[in-house]
Amino acid sequence: MKTLQELTRPNIWNLKPYSSARDEYKGLTASVFLDANENPYNSPNNRYPDPSQHELKVKLAGFKKVLPEQIFLGNGSDEAIDLVFRAFCEPGQDNVVAIDPTYGMYQVCADVNNVEYRKVILDESFRFSAEKLLAAADDRTKLIFLCSPNNPTGNELPRDEVEKVIKRFDGLVILDEAYNDFSSVPSMLAHLGKYPNLVVFQTFSKAWASAAIRLGMAFTSPDIIALLNKIKYPYNVNLLTQKEGLNVLNKYHMTERWIKELIDARGPLMRDFEKLRCVEKVFPSDANFFLVRVTDAVKIYNYLVSLGIIVRNRHTVALCGNCLRITVGACEENVRLIEALNKYRT
Ligand code: PMP
Repeated sequence: MKTLQELTRPNIWNLKPYSSARDEYKGLTASVFLDANENPYNSPNNRYPDPSQHELKVKLAGFKKVLPEQIFLGNGSDEAIDLVFRAFCEPGQDNVVAIDPTYGMYQVCADVNNVEYRKVILDESFRFSAEKLLAAADDRTKLIFLCSPNNPTGNELPRDEVEKVIKRFDGLVILDEAYNDFSSVPSMLAHLGKYPNLVVFQTFSKAWASAAIRLGMAFTSPDIIALLNKIKYPYNVNLLTQKEGLNVLNKYHMTERWIKELIDARGPLMRDFEKLRCVEKVFPSDANFFLVRVTDAVKIYNYLVSLGIIVRNRHTVALCGNCLRITVGACEENVRLIEALNKYRT
């Protein structure tokens, strides 16, 4: 791996971050707060939230078996995606490499930041080759994006190929594990110590059933986390979100139950899809969704919309011609979907 200084944009490396009132004074003992131009009324929402989200990180660290200093928390993992571009990629000069198809925000953030986005197409079974991915990288490649289980394809990327990329690439490997809780393959979090260039993204939006609170996580070395913290907005995770994050962590048994219910529902729903006349192929899934190739994705999508049922049309995505992405829902939702598709006539 290149040194962190070599990987970081010089302006970011040299940046002196904004120091907020709550950065300068962190103690709990004071009772008169006249430092932040807050309004003394309407407690507790009158006070700025903890910019370092300390309590939430300590709780999460225990859960994930990492140090609090190895955690970045953001406004969804979408914030972390944007921040890695801003920290490491010099606009108009550096580039990133990613598998294709994959989660669309990597490309959007690359485009916003004017960073070349190099796509390496998966094979017909949505597998990838470390060799092909590494061949697309050059000495201006700062980041490689991998998503496992991958969105929209739903499959786990082979672990040996993922590790080959991490070992051989001299920049940072971003491994997006947004859907890992639904997979039988364990998270790569346990390998952070072994791989200093590995950055793992996770989110409260899927298994933790908290997409509305906008809470995303990045896990990596304390040095890289410090760099991301330096450039984030000072109060990027609001008080209500920090509280609710703690609340859902305390109710982790609910999350475990939801995960089990969704995994248990996934197999039967996929088998129901295999029996449908309008379905040509159901692709394997390690996530809370799966991809299906249908006879006519646009027509079937519109038919479902007319009945108030929304799935994701992926027809225009590479390798996903005539494919719909189906999220595993609650039992009643899955039943309505299958009933509607049983009645579909071309
Ligand atoms: N990564 C992947 C692979 C996703 O599919 C999504 C959302 N669909 C995200 C990240 C974004 O998650 P968040 O809600 O935490 O921004």
